Amino acid sequence: MSDETKRETKKCPHCAEEVLKEASVCKHCHQPILTEGKTKNAVVSLVLYVVMFFVLFYAFQAFTEHEAEKQMKKLEQMYK
Ligand SMILES: [Zn+2]
Repeated sequence: MSDETKRETKKCPHCAEEVLKEASVCKHCHQPILTEGKTKNAVVSLVLYVVMFFVLFYAFQAFTEHEAEKQMKKLEQMYK
């Protein structure tokens, strides 16, 4: 590992001052800075949430269908 004192910086889009690369708010002009990585992460987590929702939804549907089938078979046997 190299020295931790040297941290990556970028230019603030509002005041053009040097700010830390991970900064979400400029320390000079206090304007919010959207980093590309953070936006990408937000999109990825949103996609993951949507996928998770559909997986859970279909799993739940398959489960309830299976349960309904079992109940129907029970009823069929009762009326035989
Ligand atoms: Zn700034």
